Amino acid sequence: MLAYTYIEHGKFELCEKPEPEIKDSRDAIVRVTLGSICTSDLHIKHGSVPRAVPGITVGHEMVGIVEQVGPDVISVKPGDRVTVNVETFCGECFFCKHGYVNNCTDPNGGWALGCRIDGGQAEYVRVPYADSGLNRIPETVSDEQALFVGDVLATGFWAARISEISNDDTVLIIGAGPTGICTLLCVMLKMPRRIIVCEKSLERIRFVREHYPDVLVTEPENCKDFVLRNSDHGGADVVLEVAGSEDTFRLAWDCARPNAIVTVVALYDKPQLLPLPDMYGKNLTFKTGGVDGCDCAEILELIEQGKIDTTPLITHKFPLNEIEEAYRVFENRLDGVVKVAISV
Ligand SMILES: [Zn+2]
Ligand SMILES: [Zn+2]
Repeated sequence: MLAYTYIEHGKFELCEKPEPEIKDSRDAIVRVTLGSICTSDLHIKHGSVPRAVPGITVGHEMVGIVEQVGPDVISVKPGDRVTVNVETFCGECFFCKHGYVNNCTDPNGGWALGCRIDGGQAEYVRVPYADSGLNRIPETVSDEQALFVGDVLATGFWAARISEISNDDTVLIIGAGPTGICTLLCVMLKMPRRIIVCEKSLERIRFVREHYPDVLVTEPENCKDFVLRNSDHGGADVVLEVAGSEDTFRLAWDCARPNAIVTVVALYDKPQLLPLPDMYGKNLTFKTGGVDGCDCAEILELIEQGKIDTTPLITHKFPLNEIEEAYRVFENRLDGVVKVAISV
């Protein structure tokens, strides 16, 4: 089968590989029908994910059809259309039992697919712990509607869930990339009084204005003033930092009102400064990433009910044999790309 493979630092290649086989009684083999490219794939390519293993098939955002299951898999069967969770988790350890599945203590727990074990930018993928790693897609939900459930949308959903948002709140979201937009969609479900999105790319600002006209939009330079003018208590009640750029961590706590929640979803390239003397008396609560991706069933229900729609994010489509070109467009942010869909 064809599999997009991490060869070495800076190099991915479409290779011919044997189809994966069941290795454990709780595995499933999924025939991938639609996949996507995530910024984390680029992080692997450029060497900022040291635990990524050369030779593995990359890709951790995908949907497909169950081809085969191990004897101990109970929740899915061959023929089921499923979303694949970016995270591998056993469902039984201390962290899994508390919903902190990102910290699953299994040797393959957390983000393994397309990083430490073969992922899904390929024709087939082996999914360990299939009962927790796969969710059945409702009949009325298309592959495109379900494509982001296991990764970026799960991240946005988790971020909104832990941010303790109430109806009186002014919520600031920093960053309107794919994860920022997914976070926005999930924050909207909490119905806060106001949502402000801070973004520097004009293209992304246009995207937010076009699709979510009720959301206020500002640029980083004016963000603090804008938030002060458009909030009730001297800053945002909740801030979600989804950008991960040079100054966005500082911007996040600076725009927060005293006693606010600041949720950091972003993954930074460098350490960030926490200048406690400057924020003394602000009594902020910080919450930090990564995603606990255990809400996929609920997210699929919300999609089925028409409450979440991520299809506008799919701006480009490519077949698997043109994945090289898909990466070029996505990586260089050409042609207004937000997310690509790779059909297999
Ligand atoms: Zn990802
Ligand atoms: Zn676990």
